[in-house]
Amino acid sequence: MPTDGAAAIGVDRVSRHYTMGATIVRAVDDVSFTVRQGDFLALLGSSGSGKSTLLNLIAGLDRPTSGAVIVQSRNLAEMTPLELARYRRQTVGMVFQAFNLLPRMTLEENVELPMRLAEVSRPERAARVREALERVHLEKRLTHRPGELSGGEQQRASLARALVNRPQILLADEPTGNLDSSTSDEILHLLREINQSLGVTMVMVTHERRLAEQFADRIAVMSDGKLTSDGAEA
Ligand code: ADP
Ligand code: MG
Repeated sequence: MPTDGAAAIGVDRVSRHYTMGATIVRAVDDVSFTVRQGDFLALLGSSGSGKSTLLNLIAGLDRPTSGAVIVQSRNLAEMTPLELARYRRQTVGMVFQAFNLLPRMTLEENVELPMRLAEVSRPERAARVREALERVHLEKRLTHRPGELSGGEQQRASLARALVNRPQILLADEPTGNLDSSTSDEILHLLREINQSLGVTMVMVTHERRLAEQFADRIAVMSDGKLTSDGAEA
């Protein structure tokens, strides 16, 4: 696919190979695609197909063996460590299957944490925590700890945490992997809402075709590290 001027994310011939003794695991193998600003892309594929590896490359948590990840016209490989840290904190937000909330902290503290690292002033932080928790309908749970919440509520809290630094891109790795199907729908409705009302570009990894078909604008299918189909025209 050609690089698009309006592309939020460009993945250009990206590979990530792991050397395991004498064998090479081609976790991601020569993958190219673009995601336009405001798109909702589902990255669909079975377990071990390379979805998380690819998402982590886009997140700047890992570096490709070859190829380039370009986000908003910046090649991640050319960023200084400071720029990359800022990119991970401010440009992208991440949501994981296991929620990754800190169990001893309240929801308020969990959601506030990314802003402390981003040096947002205290009054501004309080306002943004409230706004983010309102967006996911958890404004009444400020002082609760993750263990006191259902799985769906914990995922909503982790979504609030991912949004609090106002990222342009949200990367979600199997965000419904630990949830039942009606709770999964609830989370997907929220992702869709955030995508449409805030214009946040979404890349969601899933192995559930139903969710991809029901909620995403586009589906890209991964198999054995390769992109086997890119629903760019869909
Ligand atoms: P998915 O998220 O689609 O389930 P992954 O991206 O986690 O797949 O993994 C893709 C392939 O890369 C798998 O074969 C996995 O075992 C391998 N892999 C992932 N991370 C590592 C690593 N750190 N070292 C070696 N192999 C890895
Ligand atoms: Mg995975």
